[in-house]
Amino acid sequence: MILLTGATGYIGSHTWVKLLETGYEVIGLDNFSNSSQHVIDRIEKITNKKALFIEADVQDKFSLSDLFKKNQIEGVIHFAALKAVGESVQRPLDYYSNNLNGLLNLLGVLARFDCHNFVLSSSATVYHPENPIPYVEGMPLGSTSPYGWTKYMSEQILRDLEASNPEWRIAYLRYFNPVGAHPSGLIGEDPRGIPNNLMPFVTQVAVGKRKELSIFGGDWPTHDGTGVRDYIHVQDLARGHVRAIDYLLNQKKSLTVNLGAGKGYSVLDLVKSFEKASGQKIPYQIVDRRSGDIAAFYADASLADELLDWRIEFDLDAMCHDSWRWQSNNPNGFED
Ligand code: NAD
Ligand code: UDP
Repeated sequence: MILLTGATGYIGSHTWVKLLETGYEVIGLDNFSNSSQHVIDRIEKITNKKALFIEADVQDKFSLSDLFKKNQIEGVIHFAALKAVGESVQRPLDYYSNNLNGLLNLLGVLARFDCHNFVLSSSATVYHPENPIPYVEGMPLGSTSPYGWTKYMSEQILRDLEASNPEWRIAYLRYFNPVGAHPSGLIGEDPRGIPNNLMPFVTQVAVGKRKELSIFGGDWPTHDGTGVRDYIHVQDLARGHVRAIDYLLNQKKSLTVNLGAGKGYSVLDLVKSFEKASGQKIPYQIVDRRSGDIAAFYADASLADELLDWRIEFDLDAMCHDSWRWQSNNPNGFED
């Protein structure tokens, strides 16, 4: 059985579906600090399977130990974390505390129960911002926000653990910019409050919840002056996790890979593609750059192809169609 922490969140829920569809037994865990209980019913509806779930905090050793006592867990995918870059600058202690104490606590329980297969949700934000693009796994690391440093430190903690005991097998998955939703339109990204990320902001403009998009900077050194990122469909990302778990269990080796499309699109590219997919006009205004942003980054995605036989299946058009289907079917997210 595979344990997913942060299972009812955006990426966790899509991965949960993929694992069940692949035939894995899964137990989900979440404290609902950034997700809804309705996700579980939706997962059952999509997969037609029972979704085993426990409501708990990864910082709660007692609940985790109880879960490991009652279930034969062979691997863990650890999604549970706070993830808003801007908020992490305002509330660094909450971020270090939740993301690092959660990880340390979980690893302590895994060690006690001899479960050594672990997948970390890492991020492109661990690459030093001065690296040339595309980002390759061996490049120097560094970060620009407390959130980014929690991912950097999480990787370091796990590397030290591996060095202490060769039984540990860790997949360090560095995600680029996940967007899109399950094609059923039943699960998708449902941020609380004003979205920080581009795609949920765009979909909320399209559905009439926000008046217009603010584009942060029109004078970046990119093909059209707006910021360039590597958008990856959450369905492709979810499939990457299934491949990573297969790899840990079968190859019995650790790995560090980028999960990105390997292509960069600008904010205006995404807006145009979304307008075409949805038939909705997205009014926008170009405003000042957002502090901490960089012009452009995207992944070199060839190592994931080589090691996991994984590459993207969905393009930007599919990402926009699926994001729009989710948002238009659920204008208020899971709270409808
Ligand atoms: P999300 O907020 O939708 O999901 C995270 C889930 O973890 C939420 O359901 C939340 O309730 C839960 N959680 C948080 N702290 C917890 C705790 N202490 N105990 C139990 N549950 C807890 O975020 P997401 O976009 O699905 O991201 C999943 C992981 O991927 C995170 O670790 C995030 O840092 C990482 N990541 C996300 C992105 C992105 O752009 N979405 C990019 C790179 C990496
Ligand atoms: N962006 C924007 N307006 C928004 C949100 C984001 O112009 O309301 C831009 C942002 O400056 C960046 C790109 O969209 O160039 C992706 O931003 P996001 O926050 O989604 O991802 P990240 O910057 O963390 O990679």
